[in-house]
Amino acid sequence: MGKATGFLEIERQDRTYEAPEARVQNFREFVIPLGEDKLREQAARCMDCGVPYCHNGCPVNNQIPDWNDLVYEDDWQTALANLHSTNNFPEFTGRICPAPCEAACTLNIDDSPVTIKSIECAIIDKGWENGWIEAQPPTGKTGKSVAIVGAGPAGMAAAQQLARQGHDVHVYEKHAKAGGLLRYGIPDFKMEKHLIDRRVEQLETEGVTFHYNTNVGVDMQAKELAEKHDALIICGGSEVPRDLPVDGRNLDGVHFAMDFLPQQNRRVGQEPIGDSAPILAEDKHVIVIGGGDTGSDCIGTSFRQGALSVTQLEIMPMPPEKENKGLTWPDWPLKMRTSTSQEEGAIRDFSVMTTGIKGEDGRVTAITCTKVDETMQPIAGSEFELKADLILLAMGFIHPVHEGMLDELSLERDGRGNVAADTATYQTSDENVFACGDMRRGQSLVVWAIREGRQCAREVDLALMGETRLPR
Ligand SMILES: Cc1cc2nc3c(=O)[nH]c(=O)nc-3n(C[C@H](O)[C@H](O)[C@H](O)COP(=O)(O)OP(=O)(O)OC[C@H]3O[C@@H](n4cnc5c(N)ncnc54)[C@H](O)[C@@H]3O)c2cc1C
Ligand code: SF4
Repeated sequence: MGKATGFLEIERQDRTYEAPEARVQNFREFVIPLGEDKLREQAARCMDCGVPYCHNGCPVNNQIPDWNDLVYEDDWQTALANLHSTNNFPEFTGRICPAPCEAACTLNIDDSPVTIKSIECAIIDKGWENGWIEAQPPTGKTGKSVAIVGAGPAGMAAAQQLARQGHDVHVYEKHAKAGGLLRYGIPDFKMEKHLIDRRVEQLETEGVTFHYNTNVGVDMQAKELAEKHDALIICGGSEVPRDLPVDGRNLDGVHFAMDFLPQQNRRVGQEPIGDSAPILAEDKHVIVIGGGDTGSDCIGTSFRQGALSVTQLEIMPMPPEKENKGLTWPDWPLKMRTSTSQEEGAIRDFSVMTTGIKGEDGRVTAITCTKVDETMQPIAGSEFELKADLILLAMGFIHPVHEGMLDELSLERDGRGNVAADTATYQTSDENVFACGDMRRGQSLVVWAIREGRQCAREVDLALMGETRLPR
């Protein structure tokens, strides 16, 4: 522990943002990092708790008190090695993780947790800037080969772990580039994509081969992959969106968020947007249905495209302004949060159910809604209508795509339609096929995908070699 009295003397201070009016002019990241001295000061606030709840709250179990101390001591390189020992891609989580570690920090009991996420991001960014991060190709080969379907964070983490052990790793991805939802879902203003390209280059140097534009189960048989390789990992994400079965759903101008967001990410990345017509928010009154991360990303993207207004509707009641710490800490609390995109000018309404969508000449013109009570029942007399030129459905994802690869492999599924596999072995009902990430656990977070990719890689290594040195 760096400074025994740090938490008593130093106030929490975090990264700031460019002003909304400036940042909505472009799609670049807009976080203003803390200076090095400030970061060391913030790291000094860590109490090195005997039972570090942060470490348990973090899905990859980052050794947070250890690297807080190392940053305070100005030993950034050892902090980097420590950080990498639990997380393959801290520059991803340091930008887009909701930071359950901070919710779990003991100092969060009085609302001033250590700025863990900013310190994580600073360690890894400094590592890249100083050229401390190098590819780690294996010293020998095992003669075993592993196929991975899906180049999202789960697939990339599994690939890196296995390649470093000396296995031949082949990643099959249906899109033109790697990253999964990190590349095509999460907008550039939250995470710029050159960060993924840099990691892909590293993975390739470590021996991973990427096969793009290959939809397994459609362009090639999954069974063929399973037969050709010693093990198959499937981590294709949870891509089936929740729909809104109301009158007017099929009008022009009503789209799933994941029809809208990838187009913009491709525009920024100078990739072709594909065959579908462009979906743009410019000069439109936009309604976003759904209050999560995806909804926020639709808001920020709409403002940057020049929307006239953006209204976000959420069926759940407005959460409390502040959580009851006695009941929630160290768990993730339900409380009112305002994302940076919502801050850019979105109108938010809660306890709202959509009852229909109206249109003229086949195009959406308005949305009809009603307020609901705590039991989700409509409240008589609370009906209202909003003007709408574009409606984006961001109500979550129900399970992975079944048609194609999963139907072909006939693997057992859990009650929610995800691929059934436990987290002790990550093995599916076919012992040579392993599953991890959103495809196994359902829609989740990047940090969970990294954890599952790492753990799954360990189990595959163990199954192939009879022993493993990979950490869980
Ligand atoms: C809009 C949006 C915003 C989000 N924001 C955040 C956030 O801010 N923070 C956060 O932590 N999480 C966020 N998430 C969730 C997070 O992105 C996911 O939990 C995470 O990416 C899951 O990783 P994964 O590797 O399991 O799957 P994915 O990232 O979905 O990657 C799966 C990959 O598999 C490929 N694939 C699928 N099937 C096949 C096939 N048959 N053949 C070949 N390739 C295939 C897909 O093309 C994709 O590249 C967000 C999600 C969305 C949709
Ligand atoms: S819980 Fe907070 S104060 Fe305690 S060790 Fe973790 S980061 Fe430091």
